[in-house]
Amino acid sequence: MTNTTLNATANHLHPFSDNQQLKEKGVRVITKADGIYIYDDAGNKIIDGMAGLWCVNIGYGRKELADIARDQMNELAYYNTFFKTSHPAVINLSAKLASIAPAGFNHVFYTGSGSESVDSMIRMVRHYWDSVGKPSKKTLIGRWNGYHGSTIGGVSMGGMKGMHKQGGFPIEGIVHIEQPWFYGLHEEGETAEQFGIRAANWLEEKILEIGADNVAAFVGEPIQGAGGVIIPPSTYWPRIQEICQKYDILLVADEVICGFGRTGEWFGHETFGFQPDIFTTAKGLSSGYLPIGAVFVGDKVVEGILKGGDFNHGFTYAGHPVAAAVALKNVEILDDEGIIKNVHDKTGPYMQAKWREMLSQFKYVDDVRGVGLIQGFTLVKNKATREMFPNEGETGTMLRDIFFSNNLIMRACGDHIVASPPLTITKEEIDLMLATAEKCLQEFETAMD
Ligand code: PLP
Repeated sequence: MTNTTLNATANHLHPFSDNQQLKEKGVRVITKADGIYIYDDAGNKIIDGMAGLWCVNIGYGRKELADIARDQMNELAYYNTFFKTSHPAVINLSAKLASIAPAGFNHVFYTGSGSESVDSMIRMVRHYWDSVGKPSKKTLIGRWNGYHGSTIGGVSMGGMKGMHKQGGFPIEGIVHIEQPWFYGLHEEGETAEQFGIRAANWLEEKILEIGADNVAAFVGEPIQGAGGVIIPPSTYWPRIQEICQKYDILLVADEVICGFGRTGEWFGHETFGFQPDIFTTAKGLSSGYLPIGAVFVGDKVVEGILKGGDFNHGFTYAGHPVAAAVALKNVEILDDEGIIKNVHDKTGPYMQAKWREMLSQFKYVDDVRGVGLIQGFTLVKNKATREMFPNEGETGTMLRDIFFSNNLIMRACGDHIVASPPLTITKEEIDLMLATAEKCLQEFETAMD
């Protein structure tokens, strides 16, 4: 069984938590990590099937990153890039990022997190339209159940109704369309491809409702991550791209989860075959070793922004030298060690096949899905009718807790169960992770019957 402690909550309010419950029941204290494993203060070895919060792409414990951080801190612990200054760490990282980004992306704008990347993107998109003489184009369109962070811009851009309820969001000028969730939303007899077009056309309907002259951008995760690993049909993104072009609307991919290899390519939009104008990143950029994010800005948008004079926006820690040096080493490791290619050619397909095989025996598990090393399935009461369990999230949380007490981290997003292990996971480790998950699912189904 797991070890928990009450002391940890004495002076700390935890994010995305019922803090009263934590004070009563305690939390687990994680003290060290290596590869795909984290360890708690009782010495339990836990499989981290989520790579932290979808971020530790190169796995834990890479000493090279610690060494680089120490060296950079000794050399130049801090400087900014605001007022006609720069520094080698950020210059080198920018060059590397431009070299791995798809054609047409030669600039990045730094932030300290995914939420800051999304907020920066919102401001940049509006600044772009002002700069090119179309100031009425202000509204951004996101999707229900999308997740784009917890800042005021991020929470608004996201479509999490539970988050909107706390504090009166979204802010003005941000609206949402339905998500491209085939399993839950398709009509009788409709193929995935047909559904993908219909779901993309909801964007066109929204644009016509608002007026294209008022719409600045459409923003979406290539795969909705925190929404439950919702993978759109192959027709969805190409149709979205067509609609954005038709109405002169910027297309923004939020690559905070998909970026840096999760889908088996550097970026999720490469996997899904579309070309955004801007894409936001964080997490895998440094594999979570230090906080840093980057907004990749396409040439067309850069050209517009260069006409606009000062862009009055930036963060003290944007392009922080230590974070930038660590991110560069992380990206070099992903590149030089062929980690993403390995996900694409080997561990990704292996995981997909084993995931499906293992899950096929369970009566409450349906819509088993995955791309690269991001996986999901949905807990349903009745597979024949696709009836979900009542009290959305309760059943998912119950299974998540069974995983947790068996020393496996996977996450419940409502009643969708998701996994996103470090990209360095081996086939043997995948087998171990899935054998543990299988045992937990047996325990879960016995408890449900
Ligand atoms: N965008 C996406 C797609 C995310 O998944 C997240 C976090 O999970 C964010 C933005 C926000 O990132 P952060 O938590 O670093 O602010």
